[in-house]
Amino acid sequence: MRLHLKILVSLALATALVGLSAPSAIADMQSTQIKRHLCQTVGGGRFVEIPGFPGEMIDRRLIPDIRWMKRRYDIFITDGYSTSSIHSWNGEHPIGLALDIVPRWSRGGTWDDIDRLAYKTEPVQNSPRAPWRWVGYDGDVNHGRGHHLHLSYMHSPTEPMEPARVVYTRRCPEGRVGKTSSASSVQSADEFTPRSLEKSIAPVVPETR
Ligand SMILES: [Zn+2]
Repeated sequence: MRLHLKILVSLALATALVGLSAPSAIADMQSTQIKRHLCQTVGGGRFVEIPGFPGEMIDRRLIPDIRWMKRRYDIFITDGYSTSSIHSWNGEHPIGLALDIVPRWSRGGTWDDIDRLAYKTEPVQNSPRAPWRWVGYDGDVNHGRGHHLHLSYMHSPTEPMEPARVVYTRRCPEGRVGKTSSASSVQSADEFTPRSLEKSIAPVVPETR
């Protein structure tokens, strides 16, 4: 009987230790708030379902930004991560860093809300505000009031279906704000400064619909 108990205790301990040593889901994610409304995140990219929008997926590092938009602008997301041919292959939908947005009619959202969000992200045509890399709205073919708003985020180069190593967002993912524990990985991201990414030219209309 006592031996039995001992084995049980050992098993329980072993299980607990395995649990402790298992890598945490966000252990590889390093976020740094580099400006008031600009966060750099290195690592941790993964395509996940967007909470509240069943069937739509996105790089999980954009979720806090989506929450912010949902609350302030009554948005409805019609597409996020997508490898469909209706989107440009070198745009941000195939890497989960683009959102297609219309009003959330069911909550009383209107195109005025989307106008405000479009202005917030791109006050001047073709000069998006960081962290947005390309904004498709009024003045862009197949985008605009009455059609949809497209938002692309700045990121380090990557291949379709591969989460980018470095992503810029308005809000830091997982609330991990401030100094990071691993300065080296952030240092190596320095080549992808917001300024250099702002300069990288997106296709004029990075999607066809
Ligand atoms: Zn789009």
